[in-house]
Amino acid sequence: MKQELLNEIVNAAAKHLGCEPDEITIAHVMETHKPCDHEWNNGGCNPEYCEKCGISFMRYAFTEMP
Ligand SMILES: [Zn+2]
Repeated sequence: MKQELLNEIVNAAAKHLGCEPDEITIAHVMETHKPCDHEWNNGGCNPEYCEKCGISFMRYAFTEMP
């Protein structure tokens, strides 16, 4: 990844999280900018939550479902 782009992302993440760019870690950046490729529990059959990020299926359905 280009440094310029990384700086841009870090600044955007800092703004989003309301903290300083130098407080931002890669984990923050990933969390803010990389959508989770959700892995639903119960093998996707009547799922309750994502095993990767912990979002509930209901919340996903209301906020992220296309
Ligand atoms: Zn997820």
